[in-house]
Amino acid sequence: MSDIINGKLLAQDIRNNLKEEIKKLYNKFKKKPGLAVIQIGEIPASTVYVKAKTKKAIEVGIEVFDHKLNNLDSEEDLIKLILKLNKDENVNGILVQLPLPKNFNENKILETIDPKKDVDGFHPYNVGILSTSQISDKDLLIPCTPQGCLLMLKNLGLNIVGKKAVIIGRSNIVGKPMASLLLRESCTVTIAHSKTELLPEICKEADILIAAVGKPEFVKGDWIKKNSIVIDVGINRIEKKDGDSIKTEIVGDVCFEEAKKVASFVTPVPGGVGPMTIACLLKNTTTAFKSYHCQ
Ligand code: NAD
Repeated sequence: MSDIINGKLLAQDIRNNLKEEIKKLYNKFKKKPGLAVIQIGEIPASTVYVKAKTKKAIEVGIEVFDHKLNNLDSEEDLIKLILKLNKDENVNGILVQLPLPKNFNENKILETIDPKKDVDGFHPYNVGILSTSQISDKDLLIPCTPQGCLLMLKNLGLNIVGKKAVIIGRSNIVGKPMASLLLRESCTVTIAHSKTELLPEICKEADILIAAVGKPEFVKGDWIKKNSIVIDVGINRIEKKDGDSIKTEIVGDVCFEEAKKVASFVTPVPGGVGPMTIACLLKNTTTAFKSYHCQ
């Protein structure tokens, strides 16, 4: 049976440490780290994420500046807002909640954010720095979800140098930065994706398996190597029959009950990667504040 990696608890530890650090920073600079959160339109899942991020940010002492644009506002309006926030000394981090409306050019928007305020770590400058390792870890703005996955891995205290890591998913926000991070840790990294052949066999070789697919319970128990570490990034809402009624449940990309029987460590959904993502956003905001004030 696996040990269940408690992302909720680890995220709480990170937030407690940040709270203390932010207090000290406030005493020194008489300023709080500032995070601007921009949401366009009213996608219900985005509203839930924005609320959760805002609540946790305020709890650790970050000042949050909420900006809501409606669907009628144009890409130009959003760019103007970002340019204004780039110049605002009270704003250390800018987060544009994705996905954007279909008619918006996501790359153009993300490239407008000042790389020093890019707390999501999606700007091509930060992506480049991550893959070429030019700045010390403490200054890097690393995408929050893969950063959270790595912190969970490191917290296990195991030597992962030379270990075989398989990441399922090649998105810019999870799969690719996860690969860069694990390569920096000297893992042997494979990225699998929708066109990968023989996926179960590839997964079966993984000492570390990271699933970021977006398909409920996609990874089965017999794809998993015995005594491996399984990190489940997926968040999928599914409907399950509960007596006469239907209830909505959140499940990951890994069949948790099966994985538990094979792996040494496995993350649950919910309570695994999700809370770590938010904790790393707060960490990045604090890093951006320190880079601005402590140079
Ligand atoms: P995405 O849709 O951008 O990417 C999915 C990836 O899965 C693609 O690269 C695709 O090639 C791959 N894929 C699709 N079908 C496949 C198949 N049959 N075999 C192998 N690979 C396949 O998604 P994303 O933004 O990377 O997110 C992935 C999942 O992680 C989603 O469930 C998302 O909700 C979740 N997520 C969670 C957090 C968190 O904080 N826990 C953060 C970001 C994303």
